[in-house]
Amino acid sequence: MAGEPQEDCLFCKIVAGTIPATIVRQTDTTIAFRDINPQAPTHVLIIPKAHYENAAALAAADPALTADVVREAQAVADEEKLDSYRLVFNTGSGAGQTVWHVHGHVLGGRGLEWPPG
Ligand code: AMP
Repeated sequence: MAGEPQEDCLFCKIVAGTIPATIVRQTDTTIAFRDINPQAPTHVLIIPKAHYENAAALAAADPALTADVVREAQAVADEEKLDSYRLVFNTGSGAGQTVWHVHGHVLGGRGLEWPPG
């Protein structure tokens, strides 16, 4: 069912606490943790605790939860004292998505090129 934990999902396991993560913030609905392979001085992933495959599926099913994720990105940026940052939702394998539980990448702490590669 939409939003339910998936047994084979890495990020559902982080939500369940069965895989460790460096958690920087947590709310009733979201978790923010450091990316294991950081691409910038700050590289934090924000996920909803509920399982949705990508940002589009999340937005279609639960706009309020989508807003929670975006709000948490700003909260992370505030805590990390970032003047600016990039919030990225890779969507689909062609865009680089490798984990099929929606996550926003918060990237900051260095200059960021545009367009991204
Ligand atoms: P994406 O390629 O957009 O699906 O992003 C997945 C991200 O998850 C990558 O940046 C990985 O480095 C990161 N990642 C994979 N496994 C873990 C983990 N166990 N803890 C933290 N980050 C992870």
